Amino acid sequence: MTDSRPRPPMLTDTHAHVFWDSFEADREAVLERARAAGVERMIVVGTDEQTSRAAFELCQGRADLFPTAGIHPHEAAAADDGMRARVRELCARAECVAVGETGLDYFKEFSPRAAQLDSFAWHAELALELGKPLIVHCRDAHADTLRVLRESGAGRGVMHCYSLGAEELPGYLELGFHISFSGILTYPRTERLKAAARAVPEDRLVVETDCPYLAPQDQRGRRNEPAFVRSVVQELARLRGRGFEDIARSTSRNAAVLFGLPPS
Ligand SMILES: [Zn+2]
Ligand SMILES: [Zn+2]
Repeated sequence: MTDSRPRPPMLTDTHAHVFWDSFEADREAVLERARAAGVERMIVVGTDEQTSRAAFELCQGRADLFPTAGIHPHEAAAADDGMRARVRELCARAECVAVGETGLDYFKEFSPRAAQLDSFAWHAELALELGKPLIVHCRDAHADTLRVLRESGAGRGVMHCYSLGAEELPGYLELGFHISFSGILTYPRTERLKAAARAVPEDRLVVETDCPYLAPQDQRGRRNEPAFVRSVVQELARLRGRGFEDIARSTSRNAAVLFGLPPS
């Protein structure tokens, strides 16, 4: 008997900023290279009102691209009520697969912490209200990130570009969050992160590029692009003692569940 269940896509880049200027000259070639590398789906993540609109425009009419809308912690201080209302409208659209990215960045701290906390809590409530997953950016802000998520009652989402260790995982896993690994996992001297990558249950694992940033070690110094998500899957497979295909399949399946993607 043949298996009639839909085959999950081969690879899914759950965090790509392919709308940005650095892709202006060769965007179509970048997307083609991704497809050729087996990246069958990409989540195109907005970081403010303007880039969220750009994400929606780029994804329109393309079955393998899925947009999100949100205000990055760097932009939190610039977001007024009007911008929030317009981002909310984008988040509520049927084609929007997640709320964010949002979160806390105490490393760069481009926006004051109070503004970041307020914006993060607003996004978390919105995600809950809309029944959509939350995309969380967390840099040097583990305790506050976990506290806001717990207080909001958020139960679905992803810790994007996870950069903490295995000890910090249980709080996020208990909340029901997925953990997304990026090219950082391929860098030398990332033993804490590698330990985390071994510890995440396989049904909570997803992968991303966060392109154009964070090119994997074998492409380091270059502009990152969705095709390079293969290197992250390769490293995860190596660390977990599994085959590339197994990790590709499970991370794609998890991404489809998390973002409610249609069967491929
Ligand atoms: Zn981020
Ligand atoms: Zn991002």
